[in-house]
Amino acid sequence: MRELRYDAVVVGGGAAGMAAALALDSRGKSCAVVDREPSLGGILLQCVHNGFGLIEFDEELTGPEFAERFAARLADSRIATFLGATVLEIAEEGEEKLVFCVSPSLGGLRIRARAVVLAMGCRERNRGNIRIPGTRPAGVYTAGLAQRLVNIEGYVPGKDVVVVGSGDIGLIMARRMSWIGCKVHAAVEILPYPSGLARNIVQCLRDFSIPLYLSHLTTSVYGRDRVEGVEVAPIEDGALQPEKSFRIPCDTVLLSVGLVPENELSKGAGIELNPTTGGPIVDSTLMTSRGGIFACGNVLHVHDLVDYVAEEARRAGLFAADWLEGRRPRKELRVKVGPNLRYVAPGKVDPSRENKLYMRTMIVKNEALFEARLDNAVVKSVKKAHIQPSEMLSLSLGPAELERARPDSMLELSIQ
Ligand SMILES: Cc1cc2nc3c(=O)[nH]c(=O)nc-3n(C[C@H](O)[C@H](O)[C@H](O)COP(=O)(O)OP(=O)(O)OC[C@H]3O[C@@H](n4cnc5c(N)ncnc54)[C@H](O)[C@@H]3O)c2cc1C
Repeated sequence: MRELRYDAVVVGGGAAGMAAALALDSRGKSCAVVDREPSLGGILLQCVHNGFGLIEFDEELTGPEFAERFAARLADSRIATFLGATVLEIAEEGEEKLVFCVSPSLGGLRIRARAVVLAMGCRERNRGNIRIPGTRPAGVYTAGLAQRLVNIEGYVPGKDVVVVGSGDIGLIMARRMSWIGCKVHAAVEILPYPSGLARNIVQCLRDFSIPLYLSHLTTSVYGRDRVEGVEVAPIEDGALQPEKSFRIPCDTVLLSVGLVPENELSKGAGIELNPTTGGPIVDSTLMTSRGGIFACGNVLHVHDLVDYVAEEARRAGLFAADWLEGRRPRKELRVKVGPNLRYVAPGKVDPSRENKLYMRTMIVKNEALFEARLDNAVVKSVKKAHIQPSEMLSLSLGPAELERARPDSMLELSIQ
């Protein structure tokens, strides 16, 4: 088997992988990016709508435009790219990691490196994951698959559409299907609030007069060979009301019911996973439980905006460079996930430098107060005009807030 050696290997060439690789390159580290697709860009390539890059470039770009800007930087760098190459396994041999890949053009390839950055993105939950009862006709797609069919393959998967769930991909696809002449009858969401960004509810549903049924469960998909409709029932005071159920005829169901980090490789490498996010548990340097293996982007936790993916991944690349130079934090504090937060990533901070923490809340609230407490004393509080689970929150904490931390101190984040 052919063998190559780099300082670092980045698995995945989406926004996260490209940003991490560029950061490693900026520190003079030799680096290879491996992606199973034939082009760099990851999920961005099928997101032909705008709304990308407002923070990163101070401009509103489409997904492919955002990807193109990063890919051009890679082309100008010393970074090696292996495209159409799938990473099958990450093993360790002493201080070195062995990254095993296969591709039709290269056959088997083993890459040796002292650091690995995981940037494999996430995958969609499907009908099996949410167990919608009913028949098994053709015409049920995940929203991301339908997006790929329409935007990349040039194939229209159906004419009369119901979106199950209200995640961002489903909302974007409701608009996309309307644009290409399909009738989108409804989006049906089990929760009492939308799962997608507020801007997408307005721009993708309201602007197209597509009804959103909140607190409604899709109780059945019916149809023999092809989908003929879905049955939907309201949930009132926490109880399903089957007697109030109704049918929405359609020939296509698009599922937008959540994303999960793509972590088969991480599991195979023996990396500890966080049961809440489904991504690796990482320390203040975004390093997983396996020394020298870092994680960023949607493989770590599912992000709402690509700008945050790029920001986090850049830090992962710089931390991987620190690791290669033998630099590790001297002190780390564990972060406790306090009231009304679902998770905080990373789960540790280094009190001697600035830390950027990303998190998601479990509540919908106006005029919320976000607090960081060190040993029960408030060290930072930030007012938020509105919070909801679909929108990521972030907080920066550094020596100004954490200077008096002791080794056994507890940092707790909460939102009320
Ligand atoms: C429909 C949709 C709409 C969105 N809209 C917006 C928006 O309007 N604005 C915004 O800012 N953000 C938006 N986002 C979010 C943003 O685009 C993503 O969060 C971001 O691009 C994810 O980057 P990533 O690098 O973590 O993952 P990905 O882009 O998924 O990249 C992961 C890469 O890893 C590769 N890979 C995985 N496993 C392997 C393996 N074993 N071997 C080799 N390669 C592998 C994959 O091929 C892929 O290229 C949207 C996302 C979606 C899906």
